[in-house]
Amino acid sequence: MELEKLKEKIKQCRLCAERFGFTPHPVTFGKTNSKIMHISQAPSKNVHLTLRSFNDASGERLKYQWYQITDEEFYNEDNFYITSVGHCYPGKNKSGKDNPPSKNCRDLWLKKELELVKCKLYVIVGSYAAKYLFPNEDFATLVFKDNVLNGKKALVLPHPSPLNMKWFMDHPEFEKRRIVEIRKIIKDVLKE
Ligand code: SF4
Repeated sequence: MELEKLKEKIKQCRLCAERFGFTPHPVTFGKTNSKIMHISQAPSKNVHLTLRSFNDASGERLKYQWYQITDEEFYNEDNFYITSVGHCYPGKNKSGKDNPPSKNCRDLWLKKELELVKCKLYVIVGSYAAKYLFPNEDFATLVFKDNVLNGKKALVLPHPSPLNMKWFMDHPEFEKRRIVEIRKIIKDVLKE
């Protein structure tokens, strides 16, 4: 199945509607030869409402502080294919935290996107996405090294959410050193 047809099917998917208790809004963006395939956890409430990926506090940190790129560069299909383990905002639990991404979604849709997108680099954001793609590896170890997925370089980042403060406090080298290396790899690929 070609990618555009797959994206249409994803956008029409309502499989989790009953469990969510609201109408799902699947979000995916990009084309077959986008340079970077960007795989994260699941859309936030704000992304659910606007259908624009990383249009929230996490996105501001990711785009402007970590990658140091503009929205024009990030929301450019030549540059990024933007998807996630769960393509829809999954609602919140009783304590107000976002629910984990839908497990149906990764095998149903992400697996096929991974087959069809011919990127140069993978950027994997957050432990849910890392666990799916590298099930047997320690998350922090993945973050601090260059990994390989489908024969291509794969960078793993912690989730940029303000709720992830403990991880950043426990791993100060990420923002001091590792993100500088990651930024350079991303910028080099975008220049190609
Ligand atoms: S999370 Fe995935 S499987 Fe569930 S409704 Fe959205 S697109 Fe469909």
